[in-house]
Amino acid sequence: MATGTLHIDLEAIAANWRALDAMSGATCETGACVKADGYGLGLTQVARRLSEAGCRAYFTASAAEGLDLRRALGPEPRIHVFYGHMAGDTATIGNAGLVPMLSSIAQLTRHLESLPRHPFGIQLDTGMNRLGLKMAEWAAVAEITLAAGPVLVMSHLSDAEDPDCTRNAAQLARFHEMTDGIDVPRSLAATGGTLLGPDYHFDMTRPGIGLYGGLPFARAEPVVALDLPVIACFDVEAGESVGYNAAWTAPAPTRIATVAGGYGDGLLRALQPGLEVMAGPVPCPVVGRVSMDTLTIDIGHLDADPDRLTLLDAHRGVDGLAGAAGTIGYEMLTALGARYERKYRGLRPIG
Ligand SMILES: *Cc1c(COP(=O)(O)O)cnc(C)c1O
Repeated sequence: MATGTLHIDLEAIAANWRALDAMSGATCETGACVKADGYGLGLTQVARRLSEAGCRAYFTASAAEGLDLRRALGPEPRIHVFYGHMAGDTATIGNAGLVPMLSSIAQLTRHLESLPRHPFGIQLDTGMNRLGLKMAEWAAVAEITLAAGPVLVMSHLSDAEDPDCTRNAAQLARFHEMTDGIDVPRSLAATGGTLLGPDYHFDMTRPGIGLYGGLPFARAEPVVALDLPVIACFDVEAGESVGYNAAWTAPAPTRIATVAGGYGDGLLRALQPGLEVMAGPVPCPVVGRVSMDTLTIDIGHLDADPDRLTLLDAHRGVDGLAGAAGTIGYEMLTALGARYERKYRGLRPIG
């Protein structure tokens, strides 16, 4: 294979879902957030494995993603859409049986007028100021909204990955203030909130990143591995430079491996310099700029030219790679490119 290979362990995703599910007590349902193509790992493949693990509630960003998920999973599971009911989405929401998570009075009006009696949920803003009805708006429409029978009321935490952040408790208090006494299932926690403990769990948790092996779920089983084939190896003299803009110059004679994979595959240009990739157990530094399709690696210390080099494995997960680019595991995962050959462990057939 002339491209990199992205190994995706669906069994680990299922194990991570079960581990998060076990944290959130018997009265709390554990959903799964599969937006952005299952965090870049394959919506259909991920969702089918989670379905077999017992997951019955899913969250996507758009209605289009919800439709794809409905086709993958069939009629049973509940599929919630974070973008809510946007103009133009009515037919998709209706036909695919999606649950729009309405986040404004405009969406509420659109939904109740165009799809009366079709299930919906509500997003409340408890301080993140991204999506959701504000306190005063909710006070104004809560009665009529609750009479229409929402199936879920949710809010989202802005700092859940940091258990010491005081905004968590403030958002929790606000969520109680806005929802205590209503007779509708409630959800506040994603991965971070699930780890904050039972106060944050309510009736449903909706983890995403933890399923895919990312922080803040430090005990997650690793899910992805990535290795790249070597295209060419050659010697350079001291003083010769490598790659665009001569950004790296060999201080001494050495040998370079050029591998297939670059920023066009999600290996962000910000990754350089200093990133190490693995030749078996031996780390080798990336030298020079990341190109669109290639990386250049100093292999001068190896005994033999390698066939492949490893960027992600059980030892360095997406957060380690993301850290080398000054970003987060979420971005690294969702950036992983379409050119990799994807090899799944634990793939489940349709049905
Ligand atoms: C992405 C998202 C989630 C999942 O968050 P993770 O941090 O990946 O667990 C849950 N709820 C909302 C509203 C989201 O946007």
